[in-house]
Amino acid sequence: MQQFRRFGVPVERADIPRVEGASEVYSEYFPILKEDIRRGQAPVLVDILNCLHGCNVGPATTHHLTRYQIDRAMDKRKKAQIEKQGQQKKGLFSKGKEPFDEPTREEAERIWQSLHKPTEEERWINCQCCGYGVCEEMMRAIYAERNHQRLH
Ligand code: SF4
Repeated sequence: MQQFRRFGVPVERADIPRVEGASEVYSEYFPILKEDIRRGQAPVLVDILNCLHGCNVGPATTHHLTRYQIDRAMDKRKKAQIEKQGQQKKGLFSKGKEPFDEPTREEAERIWQSLHKPTEEERWINCQCCGYGVCEEMMRAIYAERNHQRLH
């Protein structure tokens, strides 16, 4: 919603509904959406998730586990990962807090080009999808080898 507002598109919560689960999406929501479109009053963006209970129970899954069995397996896996990461924890998140080195103008320009942002105007379109607040931070993170261009 903030992204729309940033670009001057006025939206309310109702303009961006979220619908989950194949049966609700295809059987219930789409016919209603069709009606809204016919009336000329429809959402701006529909966030549709095929999987009702997350990826583990989505329509493309091939297992025959119950929800309870999946939840148990996920708890077990999460616990194992936390224990594993805990052993390597020291310094795990501290690297990202160190200040970035400053690229030279030429180096910055090379990275801007690789990000497909050749103009100043484009460099201020900060969608935040990369996790950085502004494109400039992403550019500097790439320079510091803390990120790469694959997102673009
Ligand atoms: S660098 Fe980040 S904030 Fe800028 S356009 Fe790309 S994804 Fe969005």
